[in-house]
Amino acid sequence: MSFDADIITLFPELFPGPLGASVIGRGLAENLWSLRTHQLREFASDKHRTVDDTPAGGGPGMVLRADVLARAIDHVSPETDTRPRLLMSPRGEPLTQNLVREFAGEAGLVIVCGRFEGVDQRVIDSRNLREVSIGDYVLAGGEVAAMVLLEAVVRLLPGVLGKAESHADESHESGLLEYPHYTRPAIFEGQTIPDVLTSGDHGKVDDWRQSESEKLTRLRRPDLWAKRHKD
Ligand code: SAM
Repeated sequence: MSFDADIITLFPELFPGPLGASVIGRGLAENLWSLRTHQLREFASDKHRTVDDTPAGGGPGMVLRADVLARAIDHVSPETDTRPRLLMSPRGEPLTQNLVREFAGEAGLVIVCGRFEGVDQRVIDSRNLREVSIGDYVLAGGEVAAMVLLEAVVRLLPGVLGKAESHADESHESGLLEYPHYTRPAIFEGQTIPDVLTSGDHGKVDDWRQSESEKLTRLRRPDLWAKRHKD
């Protein structure tokens, strides 16, 4: 089963960008997922290919027009399409590993990348766009945000990560941050590796990793720690 991503953007040339590299790019080359970009300007109706206009009510910047974006969405994702339609937006629901897992279970995603001041609210409502934010800061456009979201989702798709790159233990999978890693050399600038990791006792290694994960989470992310104890 493939996972089909369609992106509506004013900058299709930015893709696949980082999504073409490493395991995610290999998955693309092996058709474990697909990526299609759509130039929003193709759906404009005037000879200047206008996609934006001034905000009703005044104020700075420009707003993406509802009619142009609606035509693009209807072309890419007709009513029979069951894939979620997302709008990358700093006021959207925060992207978390839970949401990433949810999206990885879908047949794919249709992602609208905003630009300028944003998107006319009427198309968000009429085309049922789910707004998703990658964090509490403002980017210049939705393209990098869409890449972040897709990279996180695609690496969970079956076959994308090899056994050697499993994600079971990773930060946020279990509500905890990941434990520290070590590898050769055995001594680096006078620092050794914790004895337990070279003891060969797998039970002890697991206990140490669990307790380091808990310690780090308590220290660095008291919000996650509190949530873990509430759920
Ligand atoms: N005026 C908008 C606001 O205050 O909410 C910000 C618009 S921003 C300059 C332009 C586009 O970048 C947005 O429409 C969105 O697609 C994208 N963007 C910016 N920050 C983002 C974030 N944190 N997460 C997801 N998308 C973001």
